[in-house]
Amino acid sequence: MSATAVTATAPATTPVTAPADTEQVVLPVLGADVRVPLVTGGETEYAALDYAASAPALKRVWDDVAAYAPYYGSVHRGAGYLSQLSTELFESARRTVGDFLGCREGDQVVFTRSTTDSLNLLAAALPADCEVFVFETEHHASLLPWRGAQVTFLDAPRTPEQALRTLDAALAARRAGTPALVCVTGASNVTGELWPVRELAATAHAHGARIVLDAAQLAPHRPVDIARLDVDWVAFSGHKLYAPFGAGVLAGRADWLREAEPYLAGGGASRKVARRADGGVDVEWQEGPARHEAGSPNVIGAHAVASACRALTEAGFGQLVAREEQLVARLRAGLAGVPEVRVLSLFGDAAPRVGVVSFVVAGWNSSHFAAALSAEYGIGVRDGLFCAHPLVRTLLGAEPGDQGECGAPEAAPGERSLNAIRVSFGAGTPDEHIDRFVRAVTELVRDGARWTYRTEDGRCVPDPATAR
Ligand code: PLP
Repeated sequence: MSATAVTATAPATTPVTAPADTEQVVLPVLGADVRVPLVTGGETEYAALDYAASAPALKRVWDDVAAYAPYYGSVHRGAGYLSQLSTELFESARRTVGDFLGCREGDQVVFTRSTTDSLNLLAAALPADCEVFVFETEHHASLLPWRGAQVTFLDAPRTPEQALRTLDAALAARRAGTPALVCVTGASNVTGELWPVRELAATAHAHGARIVLDAAQLAPHRPVDIARLDVDWVAFSGHKLYAPFGAGVLAGRADWLREAEPYLAGGGASRKVARRADGGVDVEWQEGPARHEAGSPNVIGAHAVASACRALTEAGFGQLVAREEQLVARLRAGLAGVPEVRVLSLFGDAAPRVGVVSFVVAGWNSSHFAAALSAEYGIGVRDGLFCAHPLVRTLLGAEPGDQGECGAPEAAPGERSLNAIRVSFGAGTPDEHIDRFVRAVTELVRDGARWTYRTEDGRCVPDPATAR
């Protein structure tokens, strides 16, 4: 690797176009050939269907990280060649992410740890008296960081149009003349449904409010163009974008970030520090992204995120989206063939969605079902409330006080489930994983589990003693 190799920047975001051959766009990921034991005997290739939690690393990302690793050095603080190279790599990653997100002149890209971290950073940078508006349907990372502000929680909308009307009415009723921020998710981590981000941004701006897009689930599946969507900030996580090296991103307007106290105080965020005559310390803080990146930056994480941005851009979202839509249709058609399965949805069957589908199975505790998918079929999904408790409880029709957790009594046919199962996938998912999943659901519902399960440390696990 040479210094020139690390300064390469990403091409501009590719617009969505019709695919030529969607079979070509399964991107190689690590772990694709990992085999796992089955409780019923033998083993099988692991089907990773929990991309919405953390997606596997793209092989390309891993290779880029491995190519850089011998050149690893300190960032922004070393005179040596490798420090300079690492600094350039870190700053070129920032440019690549800015290009990937279609950032405007003057926008900043701040490297964080994750979406959660990014939104907490923005929450810490809110101007005085800022009101925050957030739908109750959000992931907790979007719902909870605003505790220091006056927060209005908006009721779950049942159509995208209702979301616009609800936001419009709430913003119309707010105090005039004070700053406001709307926080909205681009794609639900529960239903996979796409939210009308551009229209919500227009509504926010019409009322003089700003808007931050939680793109944790959107960015891995759809192009996110900050200028075209006209959102003020975007937050996403590297580990959901095939780059699990501990970096996330907050990108967007510089002004609130420039005016705010540094998110973390320390080296890198400070330009000048001097003792005062009275014994105290005067600090001059940085103004750019470094203001909120105190401490030694995660250069490998940033490099990995940039690598993933380049890989997705080069593969072409047109192709990726077309293939994912085929898989979504295949999976939903399969589930529709099992009457006991109820797919959770806010906006209805026809709503556009990414590769995230949550459901419940009549007569099954969801944790038990997910455990059987893993132990008997080698399929990794997630069960629970997916860090979006209000949304999942609304979709399940839960009563106040209902707790969804593993070990809850099995729901009898027709009874409400207390938690759900989520299957999610993306650019590295082969057809076989979706087909195996549909077959497994069909067989489990028809024939029941072949093993018995018990609750251990709050999880459903196969009982080692008994085959059913
Ligand atoms: N927002 C959404 C929609 C998510 O799905 C998630 C994680 O599942 C987050 C935010 C939080 O992401 P992280 O855990 O990487 O901070």
